[in-house]
Amino acid sequence: MINRKSRDEIKRMRHAGHIVALVHQKMKEVVEPGISTKELDNIAMHIIKENRAVPTFLGYAGFPASICTSVNEQVVHGIPSEDVILKEGDIIAIDVGATYGGMVGDSAWSYRVGKVSDEIDKLMKVTEESLYAGIEQMCPGNVLDDISKAIEAVANREGYGIVRQYGGHGVGHEMHEDPFLFNYSVGDNTLIKSNVAIAIEPMLNLGGDDVVVSQEDGWTVSTKDGKPSAHFEHTVIATDDGPLITTKLMN
Ligand code: MG
Ligand code: MG
Repeated sequence: MINRKSRDEIKRMRHAGHIVALVHQKMKEVVEPGISTKELDNIAMHIIKENRAVPTFLGYAGFPASICTSVNEQVVHGIPSEDVILKEGDIIAIDVGATYGGMVGDSAWSYRVGKVSDEIDKLMKVTEESLYAGIEQMCPGNVLDDISKAIEAVANREGYGIVRQYGGHGVGHEMHEDPFLFNYSVGDNTLIKSNVAIAIEPMLNLGGDDVVVSQEDGWTVSTKDGKPSAHFEHTVIATDDGPLITTKLMN
C-alpha cells in the first residue's frame, strides 16, 4: 500500500533530509585522494548523531556501516573499509540515510576523486540529469511510469546501461516502502497522489545493464563488465505545488 504523508510527517522528513544533506555537504569537502571509505563513514556517522538522528543504514538487514560507499565499477551497497583508499580519478557513490523523529531521508551522490576521465565526468553529469528528469515527473496526477520513462530517455540518449535489479522506492517511516520504482519503463500506471514520498535513484553504467552481488561480503553490487557506474538519489514528495526534494539543505 502506498501511504500519503501528513503535514507533520513531511516536516520531520524535511528535517531528516536536511541532516542527510549536511552529510553530503561534508562528503563533497573531504572526498579526495588518500582518504579511506571507513574515514568517510566515521565522519558521516558523527554528523548524523550530533544532529540527534539515527543512521538508517546501520544494522539494516545487518549492514555494518552508516553509509554505503561504492567505488568505480561498484554500483551500490559498498561497505566502508580502512583498506579502501580513494585515489585520483576514482568515482565514489555515497549513499546516506538518516532517521529523525521516526522519518527517513535517503539520498545518494556520486563524487569525483580529484580529476576524472572525460567519459566518467560525462556519465556523472548525465546520471544527475536523469535524476532531475525523473524528479520533474513527481507530480500528483502523473503515474510512476512517467518517472521511469523520463530517466530511461536520458540514459538511452547516451547509450548507457540502466541497472535493472535495483530502483527507487517509497520512503517515510521505513527506508523501503511501497511502491518500487523502475528506472526504465515497465508501463506501471500507478497514480502518484499528493503527499506520496519516493526515493528516486537512477544507477547508470558506462557499459551494459548487468550487475553482480559480491560473493565475499554479500552486499557490494558491481557492474558485470567492470565498467564504471554512477548513482544519484533524492527523496522527493509529490505536492500540489510540485515536487518537493526533502534531502537538501533547509534555509
Ligand atoms: Mg539511498
Ligand atoms: Mg534509496
